[in-house]
Amino acid sequence: MFKKTLLAGAMFVSLTVSAVAQDKWKIIHAGTLLADAREEAKSEQSIVIKNKQIVEVRDGYVSASDVEGAADAEMIDLSNQFVMAGLIDTHTHILGQQEPNSRELRVTRSSQMLTLMGVEYGMRTLRAGFTTIRNVGGDRNAIFALRDAINQDIVMGPRIKASGQGISPTGGHGDSSNGFRDDVFATPHSGICDGIAECRRAVRTQIKYGADHIKYVATGGVLSKTATGTDQQFTDEEQIALVEAAHAMGRKVAAHAHGRIGLEAALRAGVDSIEHGSYLDEGTADLFVETGAYLVPTLIAGYTVERIAKEQPHFFIAPVRQKALEVGPMMKQALKLAHDKGVKIAFGTDAGVNDHGTNGYELVLMNEAGMPERAILVSATVNAADLMDLTAVTGTIEAGKEADIIASAGNPLEDIGTLMNPTFVMARGTEIDLNVPRPADLFPWPDGY
Ligand SMILES: [Zn+2]
Repeated sequence: MFKKTLLAGAMFVSLTVSAVAQDKWKIIHAGTLLADAREEAKSEQSIVIKNKQIVEVRDGYVSASDVEGAADAEMIDLSNQFVMAGLIDTHTHILGQQEPNSRELRVTRSSQMLTLMGVEYGMRTLRAGFTTIRNVGGDRNAIFALRDAINQDIVMGPRIKASGQGISPTGGHGDSSNGFRDDVFATPHSGICDGIAECRRAVRTQIKYGADHIKYVATGGVLSKTATGTDQQFTDEEQIALVEAAHAMGRKVAAHAHGRIGLEAALRAGVDSIEHGSYLDEGTADLFVETGAYLVPTLIAGYTVERIAKEQPHFFIAPVRQKALEVGPMMKQALKLAHDKGVKIAFGTDAGVNDHGTNGYELVLMNEAGMPERAILVSATVNAADLMDLTAVTGTIEAGKEADIIASAGNPLEDIGTLMNPTFVMARGTEIDLNVPRPADLFPWPDGY
């Protein structure tokens, strides 16, 4: 009996070892390869991938026998495609998206349900060509579980960096208990804080449970169910406390900011990125350049809420509708001004406001705002990776990085919209099945795409 068990144990071990030793090789033939969005594209390139990693990029089309150890490599023919690094969205809320009864769902939906929804929305995002996302606010337990399950290959999805709960003052833009009776929504989430000590604690609490970065709301927001405007909410002192507490623990800080006064207070407090930035002016742009902070423009959020407010007058309550009509058009102007002044831009959508999977339309809106194609591609790869401290991992196609690779039929340097329909997506070495029908109710998806 003892012997048998021992033998079975030994067999199991040897099987496990041989399974691990079996490397998976893939070789992609790229007709046009934009390995680094800051550099020129090259034609007829081969990308050699071993398991999750890019091993090398070679001129010309190599065969499996040309690469040592890769005799069984899977050959992937993208010789008539434009190939580049997977896109990165630095502003998502992957656990949900706008629904007519969103308000009621805040007090009825479980963390477990949110996690499962995140799996589906994550896949829609991945199929849209976004192999990495930075989640900036959402149920703490749900998002950390989703991130970890993807990291451990339990479920497929985009690489996720997550903030946990967004941090907000009581009654502010991120206080999801706004307007509810206390017997319905008694306990605000762990990101709600007032005063310096509470603000530090709110940051440290997110980090304790697993936050990769911190997100706080420096100003009012469009979709909060209050008539508190879109300018500064946290005081200067509170913002400094938030940023200090995060930086002391090695976490970067993203600040939601629309109004100029609150936005500039956030920049002076030392945040690493400003989300939205709708009312920035020339002086604000100078402050961006001085501090080195990124702007994450989220034009599609502005586009979406403006479109809903116009087409469905009763979708939003009155103060939200008012804000939606005001802020939407401001955002494009803000991006143009910031780009012209040399502000660093990192691509981000606010997906969850727009439907997950429509992230690519942001590229088109940025282009319409006056940003050139190449700068947009840099913002969605190299810059986004830099903001997320992922430069060593993704953002370009080069040896040593993980194999996050997408392809499109057209050349996005000439027609950025071609990236709205990627023809090939690989995340961390795994090819994603794109042959899944797009949800019929996906909104907004403009005509012609
Ligand atoms: Zn957001």
